[in-house]
Amino acid sequence: MSLTAISANLSSTKLTLPVAVFGMMLGLAGCNNASTPTENVDAESATTGTEQSSTEQEVAKDGATGAGGQTVTIYSSRNEQLIKPLLDRYTEQTGVKIELVTDKTGPLMARLQAEGKNTPADMLLTVDAGNLWQAAEQGLLQPVASSVLEKNVPAKYRDPKGMWTGLSLRARTIFYDPSKVDAAQLSTYADLADPKWKGKLCLRSSKAVYNQSLVASMMENLGEEKTEQVIRGWVDNLATDVFSDDTNMLEAIAAGQCEVGIANSYYYGRLLDEKPNFPVKIFWANQGTTGTHVNISGAGVITGSDNPDGALKLMEWLSSDEAQGLYASSDKEYPVKDGVDESEMLRSWGPFKQDSISVQKFGELQTKAIQMMDKAGYK
Ligand code: FE
Repeated sequence: MSLTAISANLSSTKLTLPVAVFGMMLGLAGCNNASTPTENVDAESATTGTEQSSTEQEVAKDGATGAGGQTVTIYSSRNEQLIKPLLDRYTEQTGVKIELVTDKTGPLMARLQAEGKNTPADMLLTVDAGNLWQAAEQGLLQPVASSVLEKNVPAKYRDPKGMWTGLSLRARTIFYDPSKVDAAQLSTYADLADPKWKGKLCLRSSKAVYNQSLVASMMENLGEEKTEQVIRGWVDNLATDVFSDDTNMLEAIAAGQCEVGIANSYYYGRLLDEKPNFPVKIFWANQGTTGTHVNISGAGVITGSDNPDGALKLMEWLSSDEAQGLYASSDKEYPVKDGVDESEMLRSWGPFKQDSISVQKFGELQTKAIQMMDKAGYK
């Protein structure tokens, strides 16, 4: 029996669960996550507003074959506008059809839990090592061994057990208002806790997984006691309530509401695309110490996938020179693969020293980081 036929037979046993069941599971997931209230809002669509909730989207596991083989179904929290050109390119080159289901990470993981072995999904595509680590912890991903990924993706951006791999990089660093702040006054994330920044700091909410991962890295680099002091200092220095996304936070700096803040590099890049004179500057944090905090977007093969080989092949392609270049140019992210050119905008921000920490640490320390931020009064 051909692969196609096997797939077609399997597909007949696959049922899309009713929306009500997903809703129930989302509720359950919310309860389960009560101790680790990760926002799971990737807010990738914050600037484009195109995110589409696909909780009600039905995905048939049709096992249909394009010229090049089985369909690969992706559950993705990434902005469709950003990721679609890459996937279209893959289809053009290979004939492999791709089904893309887009939602926020939390609902996608709840959906995978609910669907179990009946899931039509082959690959989870999401942001932040903290989210990928959670997906692996929940048993949603299966390990893969790939010499291509090992060659293309540095070990610190991959799960040591092969459950997920990074596919692009983003720096979470300091941004400032150059009309009020001189770059010479800036140095580290920890320095933003200094009383000299009282009433001048803007931060995104501690519910954002990006901040949980940043705090986890600080716990690893500075120790728990010092990190807690830093978070208390940040909270003391806040100019205003925490923000629900990085874009709003950057716009608050531009509007003069605060003088410094912390955000992911690509949000700044997107704002600069829209407004080339956006009056905020980027500063590479921790250059004299541990290096700037770098996180990943990445992917893993779903445990219940019918087409794990197809998912892995696509992941390998996404780590190739061509796809890595597209990530950098279309999404203002950094390539995860060494030696791939950055976009012109990223080059204009200059080179920087990256923190050498393995990103899986962000997952391992996530619960502790959340507890610490809560204890320190960081909302
Ligand atoms: Fe984001």
